[in-house]
Parts: sequence; structure tokens; C-alpha cells
Amino acid sequence: MNLCDVRAVKNIMEAFGLRFRKEFGQNFLTNPMIVGDIADSCTDSADESILEIGPGIGTLTRELCARYKQVLALEIDRGLIPALSYTLDEFKNVTVVNEDVMKADLDVLLAPYFEAGGVSVCANLPYYITTPILMKLLESGLPFRYITVMIQSEVADRLTAKAGSAAYGAITAMLNYYGTAQRLFTVSAGNFMPPPSVNSAVVRIKLHEQKPFVPKDEEIFRRTVRAAFEQRRKTLPNALSAGFPTLGKDACTEAVVKAGHRPDIRGERLDVSEFVALSDIIAEMISQ
Ligand code: SAM
Repeated sequence: MNLCDVRAVKNIMEAFGLRFRKEFGQNFLTNPMIVGDIADSCTDSADESILEIGPGIGTLTRELCARYKQVLALEIDRGLIPALSYTLDEFKNVTVVNEDVMKADLDVLLAPYFEAGGVSVCANLPYYITTPILMKLLESGLPFRYITVMIQSEVADRLTAKAGSAAYGAITAMLNYYGTAQRLFTVSAGNFMPPPSVNSAVVRIKLHEQKPFVPKDEEIFRRTVRAAFEQRRKTLPNALSAGFPTLGKDACTEAVVKAGHRPDIRGERLDVSEFVALSDIIAEMISQ
């Protein structure tokens, strides 16, 4: 079965009464080399289970099943489930669940897979919901080894940006708290059916086994990062005082200076270790 063949895709869609649903970000991969490359590079151990988000008609899923111990695939579109039963019929190591990943209880669904060994994530993500899905995976606290995702090229730039650059944002700082992101390759729109209006890139995130920087209060750390970027044109003390109104501008300036920065610095210059240090000072001020 060749699910990268455009005619085969059309036949399956027709046979199961399906149409490409834009509201679910359905752009299916049609280049076998790219599908193979994603499946190859999503982790370094064949003895692992893979969580796939959005299997579509099973193009990437089949390659994952052929390479890894077990695959759990979550698909929101109920209409695709019978088609997946057909395209994945030959594989005994796959479970398809008709669920919205944003509503799914990943702790419960993945418990047997974590008991069996390592788990990584591999997905050609629906672009309308990339950041919320990534944040849900990262904040789940589940010990994924790698998270490998095909995403919009501009989002890939954000995830891999260096502190101080234009593409650096709250998502970059938060991601660096949980792991390190590497851009693997770029994929042009012509490799999908239907083609999306943007280029894509594959990014692999390696989750820290031990976080190198741990804040005293994770919620205050998140609020610090969020506040710094919500008003990124403002100086850091000004941005922080909007995010921590009970502290006020003077205390926020004091916190920034105490953390070793000039009071006119902008938040976009701070890397994750500096955000952690700053948030510890803010947490202490709040607790006083
Ligand atoms: N994996 C297939 C491929 O590479 O050809 C399809 C990828 S397509 C870009 C995104 C897939 O995610 C679609 O199958 C879509 O129905 C599914 N999807 C969209 N939103 C979802 C959600 N919230 N939870 C689970 N699956 C979702």
C-alpha cells in the first residue's frame, strides 16, 4: 500500500466518503522520502513507543509501526477511523483512538506505554493548534524522550531562536525550560495534499532528563516569561509590572537590577536561566 501516491489517497478518501477538512488542518504528506525521514529521525531507539497526533489516513503511522515497538495514534476526525482500520490492518502494534489531543487524558492513555519503556512523540501537526499542542505535551510532565513535529516554518524559527533575536518569544523560553529544539529540515508546500499556504519544517525537541534550571515556583516562572513577552516593546520592569500589578514598577525594577540587568533591558534578551533567576527574586518578593 502506497499512501504517498496521490491517486491512492483520492481512492481511499472516496471509498470512505471523506473530504479534506480544513478546520482540522488536514494536509496529508505525499512524499515517501520525507515520511521516511521523519519516522527515522523521531527517536534513536526502535525499542520505544510512539504517540502520533493526527494520523490522517495513516501515511506516517505505517512508517512508525514498521520501525517502533508500539504506536498510539490520536485522531480527532471520526470519519477517518474506518479508513485507518483499513490502511493499518497489517500492523498489530498500533492503537487508534478517536480523540481530540487537547481533551485527551494523556497520563491515563500513555500509562501502559511508559510502563513498557521509553515514549516519544511524532506528528505532522495541524497548524491551527500547533502551540497549544506543544505546550500541552511539555507541561504534561510526562517523561517523553523526544517530541518531533512538522510545523509551520515560521513557528520552527521561533522554537529554535536565540535570545535577543526577533523570532525569540515566550514559547522559545518555555521550550528551553523543558528541552532543546533542533530544526531538522524544511519541507515545501508541494509535498502535501492539499498543499498548505506556507512552508513547513521538522523540529525535534529533546526533553531534558534533568532540567538544568529549576525555578522555586514554576507558576511565577511562567507568569514572568508571559509578562516579559506580552509587552515586548516595553522595558522589562514595565512589562513585569503589568504582569505583577501587586508588585508595582519600583519593585519590578529592583528585581530586574537584583538579577544583574540594566533597568532598561527588554525581556527578549533573557535566556531561560536568566528568567528562572529573575522569577526566583520575584517569587521571594511576592512571599514577603
Ligand atoms: N499524519 C498525517 C500525514 O502526515 O499525512 C496527517 C497530518 S494532518 C497535517 C493533521 C491531522 O491531525 C489530521 O488528520 C487532523 O484530522 C488531525 N487533528 C487535527 N486536530 C486534532 C486534534 N485536536 N487532536 C487530534 N488530531 C487532530
